[in-house]
Amino acid sequence: MDNCIFCKIVRGEIPSRKVYEDELVFAFHDIHPQRPTHILVIPRKHITSLAQVTPEDEPVLGRMLAVSQQLAAAHGSTDGFRNIINTGRVGMQEVPHLHMHIVGGPDPVGPMLKKL
Ligand code: AMP
Ligand code: ZN
Repeated sequence: MDNCIFCKIVRGEIPSRKVYEDELVFAFHDIHPQRPTHILVIPRKHITSLAQVTPEDEPVLGRMLAVSQQLAAAHGSTDGFRNIINTGRVGMQEVPHLHMHIVGGPDPVGPMLKKL
């Protein structure tokens, strides 16, 4: 995807604070961290959101989860963390390239959602 900001980050065309990459995923610090630990893990290949995944994407989805512990622990969240994936309009996804937030730090991150 030529104009996708996260595809550009994977290709190195936009700078990022990379923390990890392998053949399936790329991870970097969120530019506006909401907790002391705030990392984004994305597929190297463009997938718009969880609403567009296919069975062939299962390995990359598994890898996104499987790298969470090591990345959280290495970046200040040694006693647990939270994974968040926002999808589409209702999920209030802002960047249309699938990404998983890993948030945490020394203290609990707070309630899952604000009450309506
Ligand atoms: P979401 O609301 O789930 O789509 O989250 C998008 C996230 O991407 C936000 O937390 C932004 O701060 C983050 N973000 C947007 N642009 C960049 C960028 N160039 N580098 C790092 N994080 C970014
Ligand atoms: Zn993309």
